[in-house]
Amino acid sequence: TAQHISVLGLGAMGAALAQALLAGGHQLTVWNRTPSRAEALVSQGAQVAATSAEALAVADLVILCLLDDASVREHLEPAAAALRGRTVINLTTATPEQARSLGRWAAEHEVALMDGGIMAVPSMIGGPAAFVLYSGAAAEFERFHGVLELFGRAEFVGEDFGAAAMYDLAILGGMYSMFAGFQQGAKMVRTTGGTAAHLATLMAPFLQAMTTMFAQYAPGIDDPESYVPEQDADFTAGAIGTIDKAAVESGTATELFGVLLRTLPGI
Ligand code: NDP
Repeated sequence: TAQHISVLGLGAMGAALAQALLAGGHQLTVWNRTPSRAEALVSQGAQVAATSAEALAVADLVILCLLDDASVREHLEPAAAALRGRTVINLTTATPEQARSLGRWAAEHEVALMDGGIMAVPSMIGGPAAFVLYSGAAAEFERFHGVLELFGRAEFVGEDFGAAAMYDLAILGGMYSMFAGFQQGAKMVRTTGGTAAHLATLMAPFLQAMTTMFAQYAPGIDDPESYVPEQDADFTAGAIGTIDKAAVESGTATELFGVLLRTLPGI
């Protein structure tokens, strides 16, 4: 069933979210600090609110996609009374503690809040590879599930308001660790006359296959008592030690493998 939904923030991501809601047949009100960014959506049937307060007060469901936590606070806090009894989904990137703090604010003002972490770039919204993590009000997740699926697969990760941000940042942390490994590896192979481009073609499928190991490591992290490691700590330390030695010998060493030695024993 069609809902009345407001989207605040029509940057690259907010505009993509708004577009998906229009395509899904919902009644859409939009607001952006710089009003001209609403024009394309208005020509496709969205209504435009003159102020953020108006956008917050007209809809059953309010979605925020602003710059940061401070900009979210700036617009939500003065509107607390108008938001009572409504559902707010904050898809603005925040830290887990910022999300929890907003969760406490929402509970105090009887606003049903979910925090979300978007695992996609704007062009992926509504496509098969996009997913969005949600945490907070579980009942609201059920209630608006059909709407949320318009953005990409909707995944509820817990009632702790900080959970979506924590999962989001954990996943990005994994991604950046992988990029660091590639950059270091590229420096190493270049000392042999090799190229980063060639390494990319070899490393990408190997790492992709290795991600199946996550599921094997997971039980030992969730329940260390009952875990029998596949590789013992000495084997892992030895392997990383050899890699570090190659980096040192090639004159490309950074702190990367030392950090791994200190953080990866016993997988
Ligand atoms: P943009 O820089 O394209 O847009 C930022 C938006 O925030 C604009 O609508 C801007 O309004 C608005 N804004 C900034 N400050 C304020 C303020 N004080 N009051 C009101 N509005 C404000 O960013 P994105 O759309 O890319 O990102 C939006 C959020 O989505 C961020 O939290 C980002 O981390 C998150 N996100 C983005 C992804 C991406 O790939 N782009 C991926 C995952 C999450 P104005 O037009 O007036 O400047």
